[in-house]
Amino acid sequence: MRKLFALAAFALATAAGLSHANEVVVYSARNEQLIKPLFDAYTRKTGVAVKFVTDNEAALLARLKAEGDKTPADVLMTVDAGNLWLAAQDGVLQPTQSAALKAAIPAHLRDPGDQWFGLSVRARTIVYNTRRVKPQDLSTYEDLADPKWKGRLCLRSSKKVYNQSLVATLIKAHGEEKTESIVRGWVANLAAPPFSDDTKAMEAVAAGQCDVTLVNTYYFGRLMAKQAELPLAIFWPNQAPGLAYEGVHVNVSGAGVTRHARRPDEARKLLEWLASPEAQSLYADQNLEYPANPAVPAAPAVAAWGRFKQSPINVAEAGRLQSRAVMLMDRAGYK
Ligand code: FE
Repeated sequence: MRKLFALAAFALATAAGLSHANEVVVYSARNEQLIKPLFDAYTRKTGVAVKFVTDNEAALLARLKAEGDKTPADVLMTVDAGNLWLAAQDGVLQPTQSAALKAAIPAHLRDPGDQWFGLSVRARTIVYNTRRVKPQDLSTYEDLADPKWKGRLCLRSSKKVYNQSLVATLIKAHGEEKTESIVRGWVANLAAPPFSDDTKAMEAVAAGQCDVTLVNTYYFGRLMAKQAELPLAIFWPNQAPGLAYEGVHVNVSGAGVTRHARRPDEARKLLEWLASPEAQSLYADQNLEYPANPAVPAAPAVAAWGRFKQSPINVAEAGRLQSRAVMLMDRAGYK
């Protein structure tokens, strides 16, 4: 009964716009299982309660826009810089000035306008069949357009933001014309129609339907944890110095303070803590991602995949060039 009353009081208080100094409200597209242990740790440390709502990013964005200045949310947390960029573009975030955040998160992993900050890094890289491909045959994302890969490439659907972000950053490095010829080359090399998710694409590689694919490493980690015998390995492309597209394509999960936050200082403090060494490993390790803070080592299982150079292109470019990437993939016949 007391609990019910407390919940009702919370609902009334947020509806009436009353501010509670000792809490912060987060809208999260990351699921409860990933974020709750973090927020519990924050509450133990600071005494500040973290209330959260989880849903998919489109629903949360629509909700923030509909609620306007009545929103109870102080923080929006989501995956992919494309989604964070869109939230900033739609006016639901505000800049956060924080020396701690700037020191903890490298410049290419946060919004140049300070409206959002990457908190974990996902690398989108090549996975190959170890029985059919030698690592020395692999080099770059661009090389997968070469006719030597004809009938040997599998890709995830272009409908998912992950490959849209990769193509957007290729546009940033090469311009549209060259990027379109690369994407056309990929399409010409496909062994099968694009797959609905990264895991299915890797399963096709393992089964010998194709030899190489592009995936986020945490999907590789999850699959190999279940089936360690699969003949799959990671290759880090674009590592040679001096390439126009230099380094592995990375993206982030991240967060920003909402435009109408009632507790912007509490929101900022939560983000600063999430970027700190104490929270970074907890945050990244839960999903087999890399900490965004370079002072924090990756989990041993993740570090075992080897070191690599990240693309220095600001992840915000994935958002800015996303619509051009989508149109380009459509023109190139990438479904
Ligand atoms: Fe994912």
